Amino acid sequence: MLRPQKITLGETREMGVRGVLVYCSDYHCSHWTAISGDRWPDDARLSDLEPLFVCQACGAKGANVRPHFGWEREARRYCRDSVEYSVTASMAAASR
Ligand SMILES: [Zn+2]
Repeated sequence: MLRPQKITLGETREMGVRGVLVYCSDYHCSHWTAISGDRWPDDARLSDLEPLFVCQACGAKGANVRPHFGWEREARRYCRDSVEYSVTASMAAASR
């Protein structure tokens, strides 16, 4: 695993960022969505979350996860139940 380590959710929360942007790992697809990061603990790195996503558009496993700096402003645009990325069984396990 040579993924570069990314910042933790605790660090993004300190910056006032509560959400993350999830991009499909297949650049041909480029599907993306914005979700709340509240379900994961402070010590979860964004790079730890990336393998947990499965794209609902093309089925690719893995994703690119970035802090969603516009979250507070844009959150109202996203319905609570509009998560387009499925949460795999292993995602619950990641909430160690
Ligand atoms: Zn995709």
